[in-house]
Amino acid sequence: MDRDVVGLAAARSGHPAVEALDKRPLGTEADRYHSGLLAQLKNEDPLVYEGIVEEYRRVSETIQLIAAENRCSRAVLAALGSILQNKTTEGFVGNRFHGGCQVVDRLEQLAIERAKAAFGARYANVQPHSGTAANHIAFTALLEPGDRILHMALDQGGHVSHGASVSFTGRFFSTYAYSVDRSSYLLDYEQIRCLARQIRPRLIVCGASAYPRLIDFAAFRSIADEVGAYLVADISHIAGLIAAGQHPSPIDQAHVTTTSTYKPGGPRGGLILMGKDYDTPVKVGNKTRPMWEQIEKATFPGFQGTPYLNNIAAKAVFFREMATDQYRYLQARIIENARALAEALIADGMQVLTGGTDNHMVLVNVAASRPGMTGLVAQRALEDCGIVINMNRLPYDPLPQSITSGIRLGTPVVTRNGMGPEQMSIIAKMVVKVLSEVKSVDGRNYHLEQRMQQQIRRQVTDLCRCFPII
Ligand SMILES: *Cc1c(COP(=O)(O)O)cnc(C)c1O
Repeated sequence: MDRDVVGLAAARSGHPAVEALDKRPLGTEADRYHSGLLAQLKNEDPLVYEGIVEEYRRVSETIQLIAAENRCSRAVLAALGSILQNKTTEGFVGNRFHGGCQVVDRLEQLAIERAKAAFGARYANVQPHSGTAANHIAFTALLEPGDRILHMALDQGGHVSHGASVSFTGRFFSTYAYSVDRSSYLLDYEQIRCLARQIRPRLIVCGASAYPRLIDFAAFRSIADEVGAYLVADISHIAGLIAAGQHPSPIDQAHVTTTSTYKPGGPRGGLILMGKDYDTPVKVGNKTRPMWEQIEKATFPGFQGTPYLNNIAAKAVFFREMATDQYRYLQARIIENARALAEALIADGMQVLTGGTDNHMVLVNVAASRPGMTGLVAQRALEDCGIVINMNRLPYDPLPQSITSGIRLGTPVVTRNGMGPEQMSIIAKMVVKVLSEVKSVDGRNYHLEQRMQQQIRRQVTDLCRCFPII
């Protein structure tokens, strides 16, 4: 045996910690290493620890109705906070630029297989760091700089990364927006088809951040085919509903489907999926490649560097959860709750856009429901009472983006916490009470009677106590 190795072995065997390690099964050792992480943080960095405790208290004692939020399992959190965070590599499974990838290759492949199974896809790329990154990758994989993109306008419910002038898409591509119908607030596919015929985009994006009705992906594909465009479906908000069969799937309709992974209840991050078009040849520049390969090249080295392997492991955990009956039940319940919330709000005279919802969100025109009310005042006053929502610009909104006429409510978190339609009507009553009592001063500032505020807050805390985070 090499003398250095013998020396090292001798040194190791003399060390008490190493002796202990050698006698213990490795699993136990890894358990010990990962357990008590929070206690360690508390010791080493009380300021950050206190922030976590405070945030836990905030979400435990207030009602989370932000449609873009969800809550992941503790199993997902465990994978996120694991030693996998330290592994550095580049490239894809079986084709890495660094050694030591046996374990992470296996985990990334697991995430890929589970994502494909959860969505019925033929290809999955689990590396995008976010939903926005997934869009960036999809667009740059399929387009040349300056190519035309047709997307849903930001102020109509689209996402900023789809083509807004302030995002990379708006800066590096020629972007054109479609709108919802002025009176029904619904997507008008014939109108979009006419626009596509005029603009002849190279790519059409569908999918929204603020649209409460079903999206007809087949109609979008027929428009894309007619004008020779690629179709990208961004399902960030509705990915969970789609995986559970509660919303039509775009996997075989769109050329590429993108999503964030936290909105359906997983770790933060992005995901790219493909169905029947996964190996359709794509010509960009003077190279032609299958679509999946083009997507991988655009991921690395095109846009990202090293994948977040702890995050990919957490995605694997989540994609398994997605395939469970419990997850499917939750998705149906999310819609049931959103409908109950919408109905209760309408019954109390609130103007709900499109008259209801098919998904997890409810858009309310508060300015039209209560004189002088704005989205900003509604958001602030409700938060004072422990109900957390976000103001939302509505289609054709006469008020500026910083104030807005609307609010957006979503049911993923409250549903996950175990609430049902009965609790939704209680919440709707509280929302209406706050919006009826609050006096807007100038659209930003407001007056809310202290006693009323305390009374609602108590009611909110009582309700939250019955539905703890578990
Ligand atoms: C939230 C959202 C995204 C962005 O996802 P991030 O992970 O926050 O970057 C992209 N598209 C749509 C439609 C979204 O709603």
